[in-house]
Amino acid sequence: MTVRPILICGAPVLHSAAKPVTEFDEGLASLISDMFDTMDAAPGVGLAAPQIGVDKQIFVYSYPDDEGNDRRGVAVNPQLFITPLVLDEPTAADEEGCLSFPGERFPLVRAESVLLRAQDENGKPFEIECDGWFARIMQHEFDHLLGYLYIDRLNHHFAKAAEKIRKSRQWGKPGLSWMPGVDDLEG
Ligand code: ZN
Repeated sequence: MTVRPILICGAPVLHSAAKPVTEFDEGLASLISDMFDTMDAAPGVGLAAPQIGVDKQIFVYSYPDDEGNDRRGVAVNPQLFITPLVLDEPTAADEEGCLSFPGERFPLVRAESVLLRAQDENGKPFEIECDGWFARIMQHEFDHLLGYLYIDRLNHHFAKAAEKIRKSRQWGKPGLSWMPGVDDLEG
């Protein structure tokens, strides 16, 4: 079991697009296994490779869907097809968090359903239809691979609040991280 440090907002790898995976080898399997360990230790419901400093299009997730089925897996080289977004005002039910902006929650309206197409750890293609909170996780993790954090998408009011926190914690510069199981930032 290898838990890796999670990078905090400001690390350049979190703010640039990740690269496609081309080798489905033992190195990839071991990276994915570390990603699951790190997500579980945080604890979190999703983790993208750039969050542990790896510039690759991979994320892991673990969350029950709206029917209560356990959803746990890895998406390599994902594509996400998003239903049109209804532009409502965010409510408390839309509160989202991110392990790279730890300990905070801000509301963000997301699309209600998405279709994920990706490859598994062996390169085998699969697709999943996702609704509700599970669809939100997919949009959040996919954004990481594009180089966006959810705080980049907040409306003006909440963006200002997030910016205040970023300044007071002195986040937003390279070299910051926290260690799941050691630093209790998401407990
Ligand atoms: Zn995140």
